[in-house]
Amino acid sequence: MLRRGGATFAAIVDDIAKAIRRPRERILADVTAVLRGLAEQEALGIVTTKPSCPGAPAAFRDGDLDPGHDEREFDMAENGAALYKPLGLLAELTHRCPLGCPYCSNPLALDPRGSELDTQAWSRVFTEAAALGVLQVHLSGGEPGARRDLVAIMAAAHAAGLYTNLITSAVGIATDTLRQLSEAGLDHVQISIQDSERASADRIAGYEGAFARKCALAAEVVRLKISLTVNAVMHRANIDHIENMVALALGASRVEIARRRDGRGIAPPAKRESVPQPRRSE
Ligand code: SF4
Repeated sequence: MLRRGGATFAAIVDDIAKAIRRPRERILADVTAVLRGLAEQEALGIVTTKPSCPGAPAAFRDGDLDPGHDEREFDMAENGAALYKPLGLLAELTHRCPLGCPYCSNPLALDPRGSELDTQAWSRVFTEAAALGVLQVHLSGGEPGARRDLVAIMAAAHAAGLYTNLITSAVGIATDTLRQLSEAGLDHVQISIQDSERASADRIAGYEGAFARKCALAAEVVRLKISLTVNAVMHRANIDHIENMVALALGASRVEIARRRDGRGIAPPAKRESVPQPRRSE
């Protein structure tokens, strides 16, 4: 049995569902998925009391979690091994992006706008993903704000019952669009930052004014009480600023540090004036 003080797992799930006004079933699925991940990494000690399936991780053999929950989370292969269902879907809505970060991992030959999946196709993908057991979708790119139907796509993901995360450079998402996205079911926003100093951040992003727009959109996300993560992309041109970048945080409750190992195309600080701008992607 999992306990927080005297509370049972079920009571904790009830508390969370009430606090963020979400269906209990969704919270139960999300929390259980997190616990399963921790158990698999052996980062969580869980007492198993009612083994129900030899292939299940410890978290799902605890009868207090939710009787029968394990059967919904994975299928059994013929040899008895657990076949886990996918939890997340990364939806790259477009390759288009107004920024030009040198470390971008978009392919050199970008898919043209005409070959992007349309709203209807994405809606079908979300519905099928949810049926497979997917709990959350990350709407990414390129810059998802380049899609004129982004609000409709967001609404489709929300209607499919998915937790929605918008991964954005913040350039291309207007304040009014953010409001519409929020009304359509946006749950979480992730904004990438290139540096803690405006001039350097704009230089790395290859876009004059990008830093100011990131700050402005982050403030609006916080004002709308949408969960915010800041993604700090680190490499040799900004590694000296890592403390300031984490401290900056733009009001986010979570900071994620992404490390670019090679730093290709990015000049170290002393040579920043001549930062080359190869292709982009995130
Ligand atoms: S890394 Fe992201 S923000 Fe930068 S150019 Fe690529 S897609 Fe755009």
